[in-house]
Amino acid sequence: MEDHHNYQDRHPDQFKPHELFDVIIIGSGIAGSTFAIRISQLLDSYGSTFKKVLMIEEKSKNHGTFKVGESLPSETKPVLQSLGIFEMVNNDTNLEKHLYCYGNKSAWGSNNINGTDSIFNPYGHGFHLDRSLFEETLLKTIELRYGQIVKIIRGFSVTDLYFNFDDNCVKNEKCWEVTISKCSNLNNNVCEAQNKIYGKILVDASGRRCCIRKCVPSLKRYSFDKLLAFACLFETACLNGLKDNDHYTLVESCRYGWFQTSQLPNNQRIVIFFTDDDLVKQLPQRIRIVDKFCDFLRENTSYVDKILKNFDYTPLKNRVMCMAANSDMLSEFASIQNHWIAIGDSAISFDPLSSQGIMKNYINLNIHSEKSEKKSIDKQDNAEIQPIEVYQHKMKEILKNYRKEKKYFYCKEQRWSDEVFWTRRHTEEL
Ligand SMILES: Cc1cc2nc3c(=O)[nH]c(=O)nc-3n(C[C@H](O)[C@H](O)[C@H](O)COP(=O)(O)OP(=O)(O)OC[C@H]3O[C@@H](n4cnc5c(N)ncnc54)[C@H](O)[C@@H]3O)c2cc1C
Repeated sequence: MEDHHNYQDRHPDQFKPHELFDVIIIGSGIAGSTFAIRISQLLDSYGSTFKKVLMIEEKSKNHGTFKVGESLPSETKPVLQSLGIFEMVNNDTNLEKHLYCYGNKSAWGSNNINGTDSIFNPYGHGFHLDRSLFEETLLKTIELRYGQIVKIIRGFSVTDLYFNFDDNCVKNEKCWEVTISKCSNLNNNVCEAQNKIYGKILVDASGRRCCIRKCVPSLKRYSFDKLLAFACLFETACLNGLKDNDHYTLVESCRYGWFQTSQLPNNQRIVIFFTDDDLVKQLPQRIRIVDKFCDFLRENTSYVDKILKNFDYTPLKNRVMCMAANSDMLSEFASIQNHWIAIGDSAISFDPLSSQGIMKNYINLNIHSEKSEKKSIDKQDNAEIQPIEVYQHKMKEILKNYRKEKKYFYCKEQRWSDEVFWTRRHTEEL
């Protein structure tokens, strides 16, 4: 079998300075890569004006890096098939580079544990992914199958965006001037080697960073909560052949928030604790320190703690990763006048309780990869503005339904209803 894991870093010799692309995609996460594949498939099937696509990713590599977000529900299998990656993901799972997931368990609302087994699901098992490898598989698929249409630049950040008339645009039309830079530390703005490229349409797939917001002053980002995630990796030496045989995603609530754990490849397991940003200081332990995180976990869980003990897990690194995990959304998801669209977490990010961020990305992408939606962006014709409105409407519907469902699930936990974390969620206005 062909090895698809040695994907090389890409450098901007992929384009000429000031080159004009039909579409520029910022970010090669799941949303950006899926969009790139879909747009190429549309070209294959129907023909399209999107013949030159550029995807820019600031990370220079996925391989050997860790990314949170491992659970992929079985319902995504048809989507993986339509993207042409199902076989690769399945082969990698047979080689234990990803793992099968046989259902969900939750200790939520009572001391008992409840579960759903994948055997009763028509789609069967889901996956516990090596997320970086999964994203690399998407990139490799783009390179191998659609390399004529989509160019990928890695290791360069989009540092500036500007929509205006320019000599590099099509005559008398506005386009996006995109500045890309080599940054050693984006937060400190240590960026050099700037290049400018141009795009007729901009796709913001930059995740929660949401690049488009910085250059469209009217855009707002609405946050519905302050959820933060603290993630710690564990490993087991599998002494005496004792191998972790728990292939479920487990969530367990506690007074201060909730925990989630899944097994990962290479005898590893991730444990994530979720609580609100402003409540962290009030926790009895300083959970950013690994030992304290472990003490906190021991004191506040039964089932998560039991799995770690049963299989002799110890912390893998001396680090607890901390990241935003709140639900939020952009005030607009696309603009036909200004030729941009936001997808994935950049448009809406979900509380990870459902472990469906990836799945919801696919649903969102299906909405705007329908031919009618594509046409409306393509032709910039006022008469065809309706599909973008449909996209905006459907995205809002997805969020509205998700928030209702989320509130329902949080309300099922009443044991600590006087604790701030839970009161907030029980009384959230929808
Ligand atoms: C703690 C936690 C656990 C989660 N667990 C799950 C789970 O188990 N299952 C699940 O389905 N979902 C999960 N999610 C949600 C899921 O990870 C996201 O929905 C998904 O990653 C969104 O994909 P994306 O492509 O929109 O954004 P991202 O994955 O964030 O990708 C954005 C990409 O853009 C790049 N980028 C950003 N800015 C720039 C720039 N200026 N220039 C160039 N490149 C740039 C980034 O490097 C990145 O590669 C979880 C989320 C959190 C916070």
